[in-house]
Amino acid sequence: MKKDRKSCPSSTCEEGAILLGVVNSNGTIGYVSTPVTIDQEFIDEAQQQGVPESNFRFSNTCVESGCRQWSNGKCGVIQKIMWSNEDVSLPAQLPDCSIRDSCRWYFQEGAKACSFCPYIITNMLEKQSQGVTEK
Ligand code: SF4
Repeated sequence: MKKDRKSCPSSTCEEGAILLGVVNSNGTIGYVSTPVTIDQEFIDEAQQQGVPESNFRFSNTCVESGCRQWSNGKCGVIQKIMWSNEDVSLPAQLPDCSIRDSCRWYFQEGAKACSFCPYIITNMLEKQSQGVTEK
């Protein structure tokens, strides 16, 4: 990754991505504190358990305007989540993740993004952006 490029903390399961965390049984993220780059073997195994983005969080290079979530020079994902949960009080926390130095969300929103981050599951975001609701 180029030094000045940020990392997307909610990317897809593809070769070369970083395994950011695992979705725990309570629906929150258990972070992997040292960077683990995933390979095809990991992807094959993850796909056998279902949609990987429902069970894990991945990080990859933020592609900025190349992403449909990019809006007004920023990542629209974390902004939308924070704005729509303005009245939610979450414990201040900085999870032990492996990408804080380059994280797009932390760069934009600071520690507040980290308070929301453990509750974010990439596949749910994708469904919400497509207007799909869980039954
Ligand atoms: S928002 Fe915070 S906890 Fe989440 S990946 Fe970025 S730096 Fe880590």
